Amino acid sequence: MLDFTLTDDQKELIARARTFARDVVAPEVRHMDETNEYPRSVVDGMAKEDFMGLTLPTAYGGGGRPLIDALLVVEELAKVCGTVARICVDANTAVQKAIVENGTEAQKKRYLPPIVAGDKPAIAITEPEAGSAATDLTTRAEPAEGGFTLNGEKRWITGAGETDLYLVFARFGDVPGSAGIGALLVPADTPGLSVPKVRQMMGVRGMPEGDVVFDNCYVPAENILLPAGAGFKKLMGAYNLQRLGAATVALGIAQGAFDLAASYALEREQFGQPIGEFQGIQWMLSDMYQQLECSRLLIHRAAVNAGTGLPDKTEAAVAKVQAAEMAISVTNTALQIHGAAGYSRELPLERMVRDARMFTIGGGTAQVQRNLIGKEILKNAQRQRHID
Ligand SMILES: Cc1cc2nc3c(=O)[nH]c(=O)nc-3n(C[C@H](O)[C@H](O)[C@H](O)COP(=O)(O)OP(=O)(O)OC[C@H]3O[C@@H](n4cnc5c(N)ncnc54)[C@H](O)[C@@H]3O)c2cc1C
Repeated sequence: MLDFTLTDDQKELIARARTFARDVVAPEVRHMDETNEYPRSVVDGMAKEDFMGLTLPTAYGGGGRPLIDALLVVEELAKVCGTVARICVDANTAVQKAIVENGTEAQKKRYLPPIVAGDKPAIAITEPEAGSAATDLTTRAEPAEGGFTLNGEKRWITGAGETDLYLVFARFGDVPGSAGIGALLVPADTPGLSVPKVRQMMGVRGMPEGDVVFDNCYVPAENILLPAGAGFKKLMGAYNLQRLGAATVALGIAQGAFDLAASYALEREQFGQPIGEFQGIQWMLSDMYQQLECSRLLIHRAAVNAGTGLPDKTEAAVAKVQAAEMAISVTNTALQIHGAAGYSRELPLERMVRDARMFTIGGGTAQVQRNLIGKEILKNAQRQRHID
């Protein structure tokens, strides 16, 4: 049975994240947005607060907490800054979990503690010609003496140039589709690895999204995380965790914008009264609130069901589509409630609108998530027909 009651420990964790977001993150947000500089000092602060390894087993220096605890922290951070919240998600989800679930003991000991200490891991799947069709990827891992030689190009990789470790999805041999895909752990200082371009994005700035090129990179066999075969499905299992994290960042950004709008509705007066007394504004707030609550319930359901493991892929996809589209709608309405002030760069609303825009694209588009959900619905309907 699901229980959404927060424990005292979780309340304390939320309060700590809120204080950190207010005192350490908030002063840096405008600088990050304007310069696109990675917030290294904030990341160091998050590591000191133990926010980077919340879900990691204690044996590797983590907090051993359930997923829901990490998401509670992520939401608080995202209310103030989507970028910092994304960094927290990346430390607590895909790469970390892929290593925990599939790595050798030596890989765990070598690669997990640095993540807790603030090194940003990156996951490199997408290529110029393989976006949604990730299983068409062509980066190749060819056998070489004691390991593999990696050649190919990745695109839109979060953390490119800042990260210390890339989890690279590559094709082993000539097997087409997902069956030929496995993954390697590639340290950023591997000879032949380069980041020729960091791309300027519309929002969640301060996090580089770049191209990563592998030019005859030698990767020893001990750095294979998952060989081709069953590998792709397992890797995508860890990626579902990232999707739930992304949903939570979208939720937090929208909640931050909503809080500002509710407060502004009390203070801004027009026609001799606070604008919040107009029913039109109250209905806007009411609709935003309902959408936020719906998102939070979907995210928390998926997280509580996952416990310390991986979320159900359909629950994660439903939560991600709903939160991503909700955040676009809620941040836009929050901006509208602020009138010209909302549209100006004096307030954070316009940044929140830009930041919220990414979540129907990154980590699997809303259309691709809908495909996944649709297939699952039909599979279940088929199963039901056999039972009936
Ligand atoms: C901010 C950001 C961060 C990212 N970080 C990473 C990262 O760290 N690592 C990484 O590997 N990738 C990353 N990506 C890449 C991301 O995963 C891809 O952008 C995404 O998978 C979509 O691929 P694409 O952009 O090539 O779009 P395309 O696949 O070219 O899609 C274009 C349009 O067609 C639609 N479409 C495609 N196929 C279908 C279909 N079957 N049915 C219906 N509609 C379809 C899409 O929904 C979209 O609207 C990031 C992207 C962004 C924006």
